[in-house]
Amino acid sequence: MKTYHGKGVYGAIAFGTTAMYQRESFDVSSHVAKEIPAEFARLERANEIAFQQLRELQSKAKEETNASLAQIFEGHEMLLADQEFQTLIKQKISEESCNAEHAVSEAAKEIADMFSSLGDPMLSERSSDICDVAERLILCLASVSDGQGTHKDVASQTKVAEGATTGADPIVCGSMTSGANLILCAQDLTPSDTMKLDKDRILAFVTAQGSLTSHVAILAKGRRIPAVVGIGEEFLKDLKDGEPIIVDGFTGTVYINPDSATRLAMLRKQAESKDESERLQSLKDKESITLDGTKVEICANIGSAQEAADALECGADGIGLFRSEFLYLSGKDLPSEEEQFKSYRKVLELMGDKRVVIRTLDIGADKQLDSLQLAHEENPALGLRAIRLCLTQPSLFKTQLRALYRASVYGNLGILFPMITCTSEVTQIQSICEEVRSELEKEGIPYNEMTELGIMIETPAAALISDRLAPLVDFFSIGTNDLTQYTLALDRQNASLEPFCDTHHEAVMRLIKTAVENARANRIPVAICGELASDPSLTETFLRMGVHELSVSPASVLPLRAAIRNIRL
Ligand code: PEP
Ligand code: MG
Repeated sequence: MKTYHGKGVYGAIAFGTTAMYQRESFDVSSHVAKEIPAEFARLERANEIAFQQLRELQSKAKEETNASLAQIFEGHEMLLADQEFQTLIKQKISEESCNAEHAVSEAAKEIADMFSSLGDPMLSERSSDICDVAERLILCLASVSDGQGTHKDVASQTKVAEGATTGADPIVCGSMTSGANLILCAQDLTPSDTMKLDKDRILAFVTAQGSLTSHVAILAKGRRIPAVVGIGEEFLKDLKDGEPIIVDGFTGTVYINPDSATRLAMLRKQAESKDESERLQSLKDKESITLDGTKVEICANIGSAQEAADALECGADGIGLFRSEFLYLSGKDLPSEEEQFKSYRKVLELMGDKRVVIRTLDIGADKQLDSLQLAHEENPALGLRAIRLCLTQPSLFKTQLRALYRASVYGNLGILFPMITCTSEVTQIQSICEEVRSELEKEGIPYNEMTELGIMIETPAAALISDRLAPLVDFFSIGTNDLTQYTLALDRQNASLEPFCDTHHEAVMRLIKTAVENARANRIPVAICGELASDPSLTETFLRMGVHELSVSPASVLPLRAAIRNIRL
């Protein structure tokens, strides 16, 4: 038996046999193009097919996972449509008189190298996305081969590219084009590969490369595939198709040719995890209450209207944080008032009496919006982001507030404002809200006058003056992700800082405690909605502090409820 350790993406155990996945190799060698216009026409047709495939992948992602994961493929669509990418390809075709395949490959390499050279892990991820997009385009080009840009229908194009990067075709692994209970073993996968995995046959995957923050890992988690990434090159050495393998997605451990003791231990663990998820399901409609009667709300964090259904399915008491910026990030243009209204109304109606807290646009830092064409900033995390941006662009802000107030009559809405640092921001927000309400009144549009306004406590400044902020607002929501970043001066996007990130740092805990105490002293509810809210080692501490609500990802709702029901304060 050989044992390897990587990073577990999704907590489940899979037993199967290895299936080696070799990336398809493409012929991208340079040929002299007979006619440049014909090569342009091939490119145009291949683009059309690739766009169609990407849209199919988006629908599949939406059906199987959730809308924010489908955004990965919306991102691919944007990369494919990118003017710089398309112009570079055409330039290469005309300047080098070469075939489109070669031009696409060279253009993608240039852009990927540019992304990688910036030394930013987020942008390095983009370089694998551009390679994925280029590969798709090259495959589509292979099916538009008559040089005239004419072709058969898309269904037959898809057939030509079978086993490769299409929306519909299942992935083909090594020599194993049939068989079940396969565990795919690969150097790395692309997001398209991950979306294409046929879950009836492929139970898990293991990759030598990859990180937990990659789109591949995010998609695998969304599709509930027990994957292990970043296991190292040694794993693939001498590995063959058909070897017995066990993947433990909880710990990131992989066993090749497992001995009987390991098999038994893993079978037991698998049974326990199945029992555990059945046990958790039985808590879906139960209260989150400690053994001695303290009740807390466990709400869900979502990024799209579609995810609200997932939150309900997972037994959430409400939506504690709807990150509305994903509405803005998913399209090329800013969402209109009407589009936003429909989204907010959908969530409110779905949740019924349950409370829905929608956070206003929190753009900036890692979430940049091309449609706003903001000036480049040296330190975007400390820049014109979130509420600062909204206060300097009142029409952008008012559009969102109008949509929110209009939707307020369809449920139980709270509006949450991000990145607050001082009381004057709150008073400015209040007067803009007042303007919006009186405009609606004049127009005869109904809104709920009782709509509560709350603020995120996610800067040390806000926590330290929370005694002055609390009397001004209806509720607090503590964002521990940013509060940690700003308190410890640790860029939350920089993976290499992980060893320095003490998430339980006393300074962060003291700031949380201060904010909770000041909320309670002013009789307003206080929630925690950052990642720390789902850290089981802190649940008791937060309850003892007097936190009213914990808002976590939908999958963490029931485990947290189970933990709370076992606590005695
Ligand atoms: C936070 O900062 O903790 C938070 C919940 O907001 P986001 O992660 O969206 O910045
Ligand atoms: Mg934040």
